[in-house]
Amino acid sequence: MPLPQTDTVVSYPSGATSGTATVVHTEPLDDGRVVVLLDATPCHPVDAGWPDQGPDRATISWGQVNAEVVDCVVGATDGIRLQLGSEIPVRKGTEGWAFVVAHLVEAAPPVGTEVTVTVDSEHRRALSLGHTACHLASLALNRALADRWTKELPTDALGSPNFDQAANDTSTIVPGGSFDTYRLNKSLRRKGFTTEGFAEALPSVTDAVNAQLASWVAADSPVRIDRDGDRLTDRRSWVCTLPDGEAVIPCGGTHANSLGELGTVTVTLELDDAEGTPVFSMRTATA
Ligand SMILES: [Zn+2]
Repeated sequence: MPLPQTDTVVSYPSGATSGTATVVHTEPLDDGRVVVLLDATPCHPVDAGWPDQGPDRATISWGQVNAEVVDCVVGATDGIRLQLGSEIPVRKGTEGWAFVVAHLVEAAPPVGTEVTVTVDSEHRRALSLGHTACHLASLALNRALADRWTKELPTDALGSPNFDQAANDTSTIVPGGSFDTYRLNKSLRRKGFTTEGFAEALPSVTDAVNAQLASWVAADSPVRIDRDGDRLTDRRSWVCTLPDGEAVIPCGGTHANSLGELGTVTVTLELDDAEGTPVFSMRTATA
C-alpha cells in the first residue's frame, strides 16, 4: 500500500459536503483506529498548525458499510512514513512531502475501493457561519480599537491597525460562532497599544463592534473563497466585498456565501487576568 505522493484534492472550500473517491492508503494506529487516505475528499480536517476550525463529522460508505469518520486531521508523508497532526516534522510545501487529509475510522475499506464521503451538512453549515462571523468580528474589532494605537502598525484589509493579527493567541470556531483570546502583554504595548482605561472602555468598544457588524450584515455582502488550486495545501483566502472595500484574509476553512446568512452577529468582550498578563477575549455568536 504505497503512500500517496501528491496532496489530497479537497472540495470543502467550494462548500461541497459529499463526493466519491478512491482509497489510496490505509494504516492501522496503535489505538485500534485506522487511517484512510483518499485521492479526494469533501471532509474538512483539523490542521494542527492553526486548529481554529475543527474536523467535519462524516461517513465513508462502500458496499453495505457506513464507517463513521471519528476524527479527521491533516497528515503528511515522505513516501516512507505517515505523520499526523502535531507529529508532522516539516512545513507545508516541503519538497518530497505530500500533505493529506487523514480520515480516522474504526473499520477501513480496502485500497482501491470506490467510496462515498458524506459530511454532516448541518454541523458544517453551523461551523461555516461561525467562521465567517469570526473573520467579520475581527475586522470590526480592529476598527473599534484603531484609536488605541500610538504607533504605526500593519493594517488589515480595510485599513485599520491589525490588532487581531498582532495580539491573537487562540482562535476557536464553534457551531454558529467563535471564541478568540488576545494577549495584551508588554510586547503589544511596545508596539504602541494603549491598555490604559481599556477595562472601562469595553462597553463602548462592544457597542461599536456590534453596530459595525449589524451594518455589514444588513448589506448582505457576498463571501467567496479564492484558491490557487484544489489541493489541501494550495493557498486559499476568504474574500468579502464589504461596502467599505474588499476584505481578504488567508484562511483554510469553510464559510457562508453571504453575510445575510449570518442573521445577527454579536460579540461579548471580556478582560481577565492570566498570571499577571491581561487576557482579552471576544466571543462571537450568530442568531
Ligand atoms: Zn479563517
